[in-house]
Amino acid sequence: MFDRDPVMTWVHGRIALLGDSAHPPLQYIAQGAIMAIEDGWVLGEHVARNRAEDGTVDWSTALAAYEAVRPEHCRRVLTTSRKWGELWHLDGVAREQRNALLRARDTYDYSFTDWLYGPTALTPGQEPEMFTPIPLDSAPAGGAVPAAEAA
Ligand SMILES: Cc1cc2nc3c(=O)[nH]c(=O)nc-3n(C[C@H](O)[C@H](O)[C@H](O)COP(=O)(O)OP(=O)(O)OC[C@H]3O[C@@H](n4cnc5c(N)ncnc54)[C@H](O)[C@@H]3O)c2cc1C
Repeated sequence: MFDRDPVMTWVHGRIALLGDSAHPPLQYIAQGAIMAIEDGWVLGEHVARNRAEDGTVDWSTALAAYEAVRPEHCRRVLTTSRKWGELWHLDGVAREQRNALLRARDTYDYSFTDWLYGPTALTPGQEPEMFTPIPLDSAPAGGAVPAAEAA
């Protein structure tokens, strides 16, 4: 496995990165191909929106619109995947705290993944809010999460 920090510049002149060339992810949330497909869809939409009746494309505008939205979304995916992986590999007290927090969660509560599996944003304004992380040390080591926090 190889990890690297997200890159926020994907466009240089008429050249645009997409897929793994722009954002090779760690595997923990299985989003590599998803991001690549979404990149292609978003780029295609912006090209279509900036195509004149005679077929010419305003590439600068289309590529700028693409770069305005995709790098930030993929930065979120990459850094969340990294954190997710750290969570899976915890040991000792931290592992017990993680288990207590996860056990306390409602099976049907998708608030930690809604931002990921919701509609793909075409503009920065459509990008959904991220979840609020729960601090690991809010859970007692080896014990249950207090009912008020687990609710
Ligand atoms: C084991 C494994 C499991 C995965 N599971 C998931 C999953 O569950 N969900 C998910 O979303 N993602 C998953 N991924 C990640 C996903 O496969 C990649 O993120 C995705 O394939 C990236 O797509 P891409 O088109 O950017 O790059 P690639 O699929 O790597 O395509 C690049 C293509 O370019 C070609 N190429 C390279 N150099 C040249 C050249 N000089 N000239 C011409 N062609 C060239 C390559 O042969 C290749 O066909 C997984 C990956 C692996 C390895």
